[in-house]
Amino acid sequence: MAQILINGEQVQAKSGEEMPVVNPATEEEFDAVPKGGADEVDAAVSAAKEAFKEWSKKDPDDRAQLMRAGIAKIQENGKEIAQLLVREQGKPFSEAMGELHHFLHGMNYYADLASKIEGTYATLPSALGRAYGMVVKKPIGVCAAIVPYNFPLTLMGTKVGPALAAGNTIVVKPAETTPLATLRVAELMQEAELPPGVLNVVTGPGKEVGEALATHPDVRRVALTGSTQTGRRIMELAAPLFKRVSAELGGSDPVIVFPDADVDAAVRGINIGRFFNAGQACLAAKRVYVFDEVYEEFMEGITKRVTRYELGDGMEKAEKPKIRMGPLNAAKHRDLLADQLQDAVDGGAKVAVGGNGHNGKGYFFEPTVIENAPHGSRVVREETFGPLLPVFKVSDVDEAIRLANDSPYGLGSSVYTHNVKWIHRASQEIEAGMTWVNQLHFGYDELPFGGVKESGIGREHGKEAIEHYLEQKSVVVGGLE
Ligand code: NAD
Repeated sequence: MAQILINGEQVQAKSGEEMPVVNPATEEEFDAVPKGGADEVDAAVSAAKEAFKEWSKKDPDDRAQLMRAGIAKIQENGKEIAQLLVREQGKPFSEAMGELHHFLHGMNYYADLASKIEGTYATLPSALGRAYGMVVKKPIGVCAAIVPYNFPLTLMGTKVGPALAAGNTIVVKPAETTPLATLRVAELMQEAELPPGVLNVVTGPGKEVGEALATHPDVRRVALTGSTQTGRRIMELAAPLFKRVSAELGGSDPVIVFPDADVDAAVRGINIGRFFNAGQACLAAKRVYVFDEVYEEFMEGITKRVTRYELGDGMEKAEKPKIRMGPLNAAKHRDLLADQLQDAVDGGAKVAVGGNGHNGKGYFFEPTVIENAPHGSRVVREETFGPLLPVFKVSDVDEAIRLANDSPYGLGSSVYTHNVKWIHRASQEIEAGMTWVNQLHFGYDELPFGGVKESGIGREHGKEAIEHYLEQKSVVVGGLE
């Protein structure tokens, strides 16, 4: 059984309780982790606080070198980690390797930035005499990373990378269902000589471990990726102590396919954008608005593509030309998606392809495309976190943008057009943290990533992210006469 990692040591939970880890493709309980709680959070935070004293003072190049040693060790063990990810998360092995690669790329990016954190200075003409002022950037202290189940490694990396590079220490709380790859990666970083206490991992329920981190007085910053509901709760809990919080939350990303679009490119992009990771992505293409002129061509293309998926265990490859799609991560996610689909169908939506669960073992859901869902139905109002794509017909740009914005969420968005006027209008007027043009969520570690409205606050990725892990201090030096 994997153990909690505190201060470089593997420990059990004081409670002695365990949480099973289930393979969502087979429903088999294949491992377990300790059910941590407030005691383990206390121990991990105090280890991180102690480690901060040295880590924050290290030469940034040394910090980067220690991060890179960990990255190399993880790379050497990549296959084993990807297999763990498949078994606990359900994604196909090739997607798990892709996630690992993305995680390592992000960690390397932040290791490179460690030595490039710069303050600023200014000479100040002052009535009090000559002086110069500096803005000094300092690490914050102990940070907490609360991570969801859909991309356990990449979404840990987007927090651990900038936190460690900036000189902070961290306690990671993985999702209940996906703790194993996270623990293994942290162990390997430890073996590669990361000082004890710099990176700690506490497994356990969100309500206990997550809330204990959000309220702990020594945790200065909380980085959450998760649902909007959890984001709200963490912000409430962190507010009394004015902790810094970033919350990367749910999304219901719209895509507009304009009349001049390369429809084939739109079909390819939306197919991957919606069905990758069995649709369990915050920035998946969750609503598609297609102009009348190209609607039929789009529907023909997307339904043909979607019938190519074959559901099955992510450890096995699909027979070509089929493409493997894994299960949803838990039964409750499959059941919620079925309820959202039923609500749309009750409101008059037509299922163009798919629409069924799966009779055998595993939390599978058929890739599904629907038309004519009412805009007030749950597939529009709520986030759909699985392989379900509602397509809507639109006739003009105003209507397309109005419907794209008719959502409580504002994470990503995409448009397929070569018309510069429409590109400008869409990128200015769609309420979202990101707009992609003629492609779908091409992951850029170098560009800030995050949402508006109920998709959260703060930004990950890019140089901007590291600023969220730094305090600014103004220092004025006088007495120069
Ligand atoms: P979730 O909110 O249920 O859980 C996320 C994490 O928060 C888990 O580690 C969980 O244990 C913890 N948690 C749950 N309740 C908590 C509480 N009361 N206090 C503290 N921590 C708590 O989300 P999920 O179901 O694991 O993940 C799916 C959600 O994550 C979707 O809404 C998805 O859109 C979102 N997401 C957002 C992004 C983004 O970058 N915006 C990326 C990926 C996933």
